[in-house]
Amino acid sequence: MTMTVESDIQFLIQLAQKDLQMKENKRLLETTPLTIKKLEKEVSDMDERYTEAETEMEKLKREKIRLDGDVKDDRAAIVTKNNELLKVKDNKEYAAKTSEIQFLEKKIDGHENRILELLDLIEAEKKEVDAATDKINTEKDAKLAAKKDWEDKIEEAKATLARLEGEKARTLPLLSERIRKRYERILNVKRDSGVANLIGNVCQGCFSRVPAQHAHEIRRNDTILSCEACGRILIYFPADQKPDS
Ligand SMILES: [Zn+2]
Repeated sequence: MTMTVESDIQFLIQLAQKDLQMKENKRLLETTPLTIKKLEKEVSDMDERYTEAETEMEKLKREKIRLDGDVKDDRAAIVTKNNELLKVKDNKEYAAKTSEIQFLEKKIDGHENRILELLDLIEAEKKEVDAATDKINTEKDAKLAAKKDWEDKIEEAKATLARLEGEKARTLPLLSERIRKRYERILNVKRDSGVANLIGNVCQGCFSRVPAQHAHEIRRNDTILSCEACGRILIYFPADQKPDS
């Protein structure tokens, strides 16, 4: 085993670990915006449900106030017309006044039925408002906190990616030129990494099985071989090994 192969393998392991971390962070950056959008939607649905119920309740209340006023006016008008009825001179005028009074009484009946209906509707809408308020009080803060958490995670992931990029840029020149070029060429094609860890006899880049003899040589860490299926340089390190930072 030459010094170059040995140090190349060590640097490739460092690169593989950084690439894995980068992959995780990139995945977080890809999936988190959707999670945040979902939380935002849940919060805005909550607010909307409250606003809708509140608006509907106010509308019903306004209608009731208007009808109450109408009933009051119509009752006053009936009193006036009843007084006028006493001064009426002929039958025709009497019949006309009586019919006006009957019309108003019918109108009042209709309004009063609607007012009863409105009382029920307002009560039901009030329950909607209360339920919506309850949901906001118990859930909104937690959702907003979760959203903030994810936003923080995005910032962390971005910072981690920048740090790892820097570390990789410093590690790459330490590789022998031949291996560095191979790594960079595969990275350009595969995007995630130019190097893959071997777990069992399986390439973790493409999950193809590696011939047992190759796997054995790779685990000995004294030769540099590529995966025949995906081209990534194969290395071996325990999967739960913490990356050096
Ligand atoms: Zn592979």
